[in-house]
Amino acid sequence: MNKLQTKIMEMDFKKTAIQFILLSLIIVVLGGILTGLMFRTQINEAITYHQTYENSRENVRYDGENREYRERGHDHEESDYFDLGQFTKPTIGATIVSITYAFLCLLIPLAYWLLVMAWLYQAASKTAMNKTLWTILGLFFNLAAVIAFLIVRSLLSVCSSCGAYQKAGTFCRTCGASLQFKCAECGALIDEKDTYCSHCGKLIMHDNKGKSTGLNH
Ligand SMILES: [Zn+2]
Ligand SMILES: [Zn+2]
Repeated sequence: MNKLQTKIMEMDFKKTAIQFILLSLIIVVLGGILTGLMFRTQINEAITYHQTYENSRENVRYDGENREYRERGHDHEESDYFDLGQFTKPTIGATIVSITYAFLCLLIPLAYWLLVMAWLYQAASKTAMNKTLWTILGLFFNLAAVIAFLIVRSLLSVCSSCGAYQKAGTFCRTCGASLQFKCAECGALIDEKDTYCSHCGKLIMHDNKGKSTGLNH
């Protein structure tokens, strides 16, 4: 279980998402073409069958007055049930290919669902939120859980030194940098994104390390 946790934490989701989309496309397209080729005899038979059926129905419709035709039409209708017996039996290869294809197509949504859960697990761990809770929410609500997570995360403060998300505090839990910024002019606590101090109205200069200094303007 610990190995899995480490793996999820090390996952690069941008790369994984691209690989996943490409792989899914290849499986769906190639699998579809291959299955179509393996079943080309049956597909042709189905088309011919459909055309014959349509023709016979038209005969019945247009020759409504002709009893003989009607009876023939009636005869035909009795055998109009879709009967698999009149199709050529698929080869063993075709059966294996189609079952594998159906199985892989079922795996794609499953893999997508698990990927979303893994992303929630990693993202929640990085923000010091309850990873178990978010993974379970991902299991049941998937994308809705991701949206809810992004909303909750946007309410957290971000360390300007290392980018870690966290609940408001004095120091960053990851790198120890100060999370509070004081106006250099009046010493009041200010939001690091502010342009002007809300207490004394001085312009706030932001240096590279994210520390704020009040300046006269
Ligand atoms: Zn930090
Ligand atoms: Zn100030």
